[in-house]
Amino acid sequence: MCGIVGYIGFREAYPILIKGLHRLEYRGYDSAGVAIINDENKLSVYKAKGRVKDLEDYARDKNVTGTIGIAHTRWATHGEPSNANAHPHYSQSESLALIHNGIIENYAVLKTQLINKGYSFHSSTDTEVLVQLIEYIKQLNKCDLFAAVQIALNQVVGAYAIAVIEKGNPDQIIAARKSSPLVIGIGEGEFFLGSDASPIVEYTKKVVYLDDEEIAIIKRDEDPKIFTISNIERTHEVKELEMNLSQLERGGYPHFMLKEIFEQPETLKNCMSGRINVEGTNVTLSGIIDHKDKFVNAKRIIIIACGTSWHAGLIGEYLFEEFCRIPVEVEYASEFRYRNPVICPDDIVIAISQSGETADSLAAIEMARKAGAFVYGVCNVVGSSIPRNTDSGSYTHCGHEIGVASTKAFTAQVTVLTMMALAIAKEKNTIDEDNYHSIIGELQNIPSKIERILKLSNEIKKLSLIFTYAQNFIYLGRGYNYPIALEGALKLKEISYIHAEGYPAAEMKHGPIALIDNEMPVVAIATNSAIYEKVVSNIQEIKARKGRIIAIINEGDETMKALADHYVEIPATDECLDPLLTSIPLQLLAYHIAVNKNRDVDMPRNLAKSVTVE
Ligand code: GLU
Repeated sequence: MCGIVGYIGFREAYPILIKGLHRLEYRGYDSAGVAIINDENKLSVYKAKGRVKDLEDYARDKNVTGTIGIAHTRWATHGEPSNANAHPHYSQSESLALIHNGIIENYAVLKTQLINKGYSFHSSTDTEVLVQLIEYIKQLNKCDLFAAVQIALNQVVGAYAIAVIEKGNPDQIIAARKSSPLVIGIGEGEFFLGSDASPIVEYTKKVVYLDDEEIAIIKRDEDPKIFTISNIERTHEVKELEMNLSQLERGGYPHFMLKEIFEQPETLKNCMSGRINVEGTNVTLSGIIDHKDKFVNAKRIIIIACGTSWHAGLIGEYLFEEFCRIPVEVEYASEFRYRNPVICPDDIVIAISQSGETADSLAAIEMARKAGAFVYGVCNVVGSSIPRNTDSGSYTHCGHEIGVASTKAFTAQVTVLTMMALAIAKEKNTIDEDNYHSIIGELQNIPSKIERILKLSNEIKKLSLIFTYAQNFIYLGRGYNYPIALEGALKLKEISYIHAEGYPAAEMKHGPIALIDNEMPVVAIATNSAIYEKVVSNIQEIKARKGRIIAIINEGDETMKALADHYVEIPATDECLDPLLTSIPLQLLAYHIAVNKNRDVDMPRNLAKSVTVE
């Protein structure tokens, strides 16, 4: 969601800023803009609704020279996507330009106060209020920009990552964050700013992550100085980025999503690496070992997540209950945080988030920690806010995920949850030794089985052509595959914009079966499980009402081949690991349908990759 890039140094800023904005395009946005101070100390702002490409077209004949600048991709919250609402925003005198990710919640009150003092506004955004407020404070107190930003941020309620530059002051960027990520790249005689590391990684691997309520003064020839909004000086360790450039390129694939689907054999190996011993007999997660007693004595596990991560959480529920015998609740972070939930000190709260920046999950974590629960993060982005605000955790290590519709991060989350369940069950003695070893053994076969499924991509593509123009889809699954039915439906909705619903297969009879007719494609997951026969009966019920069955089945399942209109045969595995396989053909089906429909697969409309506003 929304992106920030900044540069100060000895090179021309504009190409770096534009390249950085392209790197951030994956996050989802509706307009883009750039502010640059040129050699004559003129502060210029250029912005355009649409893509970064539209901004480049607009700025083509403008003066974009200068070695300091800030740039933004906006994901509108307050005010429609338009040129006027795009960032950067000027202050009244046009001496300041500011970019902002997040929401200023008390913008209306502040705006009225500023209007009463003679300020006028050119956009409908909350952001413009902040830049005007900073200018007002600066003029009133006759202070420097840093002091004005500090005072202003003490008056602001909400979430922000901001960067501000000032006409006549070409040697400094002021940046600050609260509940929205911001990272400073430390180069040789140059500094970078990003809402994530992707615009920075090709210039330097040395970064400093700002914490909430911190303001950085980034000067041309000095190490950045960091203060809190209450003026306490902070020092931060310089961290080394794990990301590499090839993760940011499509590498010959037409879309990042397809690349990421095909990366899954490798990403799951990385996810397991160092966690399953070389003999392949034991799982060790340091995040659990270090807090063994907490897990052994936990009375309950509460999983909080949003979107695809929530589906991974549902699979976690099946895993933890089956193997660890700990009751589990899976909650939408956005609901959990505004309820008055009962959280106890012997609860373990597991927060799952690809980006580690999901605003609702962060707020839910804060609540859980205040209530004394032990909080464990399962995130992909190293150094992001959730891992920094939890008691312990495990990274999914699947590399940078760019496709807005999550694929490899999902399977890595499920893999981490599986390893967690096995590790805890072993400590608790709630799993039979043979079963423990056999699941670990089979887990290591998953990457090669996924490779076999990926070979079916062309077959699934052919299948997708039959259903490209369907208006609706239903996805059915039971047990471990019920969350996969939800996830399969979500993938299709996200990138093809076809309405799709996932249901537990037996729930059909309680209402949704009324939707079935000969127009309705029903994707049924009917792989081997303890309740396979029941699933087959549920499919019979659909068939009897002329629904068109697309079944995901195990190789050689003649019963289902005879029953289904279409089928995809995948290798069999242990029931608890099946989601790692069944999710793959559903990712491919959604992908191919979306491509057939000419959708913008990597940047589907209205969606953002990392949801940093609530
Ligand atoms: N709330 C601001 C706006 O609507 C910032 C949105 C964003 O994070 O991109 O302009």
